[in-house]
Amino acid sequence: MKNSDYIKSWTQTTQNNYGTPTLALVSGKGLEVTDADGKKYLDFLGGIATNILGHAHPAIVKAVNKQIAQLGHVSNFYAHPNALELASKLISMTGDKTARVFFCQSGAEANEAALKLSRRSGRSRVIAAQGAFHGRTMGALSLTGQPAKREPFLPLIKGVKHVPFGDIDSMRRAISKQTAMVILEPIMGEAGVIIPPIDYLANVRQLCDKYGALLVIDAVQTGMGRTGDWFGYEYSGIKPDVITLAKGLGGGLPLGAMIALGKAANLFQAGDHGSTFGGNPVTTSAGLAAISVIEKNNLMEKAIAHHENLSTEIAMIPGVKEVRGAGLLIGIELEAAHAAKVAKALMEAGVLVNAANASTIRIAPALTVTEAQIRKFISIFRKVLSDDK
Ligand SMILES: *Cc1c(COP(=O)(O)O)cnc(C)c1O
Repeated sequence: MKNSDYIKSWTQTTQNNYGTPTLALVSGKGLEVTDADGKKYLDFLGGIATNILGHAHPAIVKAVNKQIAQLGHVSNFYAHPNALELASKLISMTGDKTARVFFCQSGAEANEAALKLSRRSGRSRVIAAQGAFHGRTMGALSLTGQPAKREPFLPLIKGVKHVPFGDIDSMRRAISKQTAMVILEPIMGEAGVIIPPIDYLANVRQLCDKYGALLVIDAVQTGMGRTGDWFGYEYSGIKPDVITLAKGLGGGLPLGAMIALGKAANLFQAGDHGSTFGGNPVTTSAGLAAISVIEKNNLMEKAIAHHENLSTEIAMIPGVKEVRGAGLLIGIELEAAHAAKVAKALMEAGVLVNAANASTIRIAPALTVTEAQIRKFISIFRKVLSDDK
């Protein structure tokens, strides 16, 4: 079967919620993927910031194969060593021994869990950022600050206020003793890789302390070393009350987590929440393998070095207005609002990226990207922009 056959099959079998894709991918190795017509691509989107070690990484393949052959699923009626080991690893990454982990499968579920946890504070109001993305289920969508995604599904959960991202005065006006939680991405990913002022998170932390509100950091996209540290907020020096993770956490397998720190770790009582697959032995084996490879190969330090290289080189290309981001989460702001067209031209030239908005190309390659692959990306990007003139 060719790309065109798969696309036809998609329209005949799949609901139209995503629109129709342009390619069918059938195999991958590292940062290279192959479509159904046999064409190869350099994957600089990484399954949307998810394939943190690229495709078919030997450590993930080995861990998953071993675990599925031994015991694939147990449910949460029983403990399993992998989930416990991964939870204790995540706790040590937060630097707070009293932190406790809840596992799920996706970013939306992790944020749903955070929302329910915050209700256990006895309050129900929430503050989130305009433009933020926190997922598509009804609770997570209530947090998401993008009108086009929300409006067809109103009414959503009551009591959620969206304030401009990075604007501490708006946050100060919105927060009160009724606020259960404030949820923020350290860098807004889907919105186009938007970075807040350097002291924003620290100032929000102070406000949350003053009013007794939980500060939830949605690290679904920034987490797992992508931005050069484990969760993407460490530069700010704050300690959040809750961290949500998914995307890179499972090394390409569906795994999410809601980590509660300090007093927030005791808010859920037995029976309050659950997920049948949560902490599944296979997905957590992949998560453990991914963390181990990131640590052993200093991939976070490398992500920071790659960022310097990529951002300096790309910023010099005519047609590029600005390069934003941290580590290997990068937004390339173009001078013209033609990001979708540029993304398509890049695909034709053999590079996968995505247009986060009309003028921003987002790249989120695997942390295992090589310098040669980065050079190749830069040269194709330069050529595509100059051909576009
Ligand atoms: C992708 C994303 C989500 C939603 O994750 P899903 O796994 O698609 O539910 C939530 N928050 C952020 C910051 C994301 O980037």
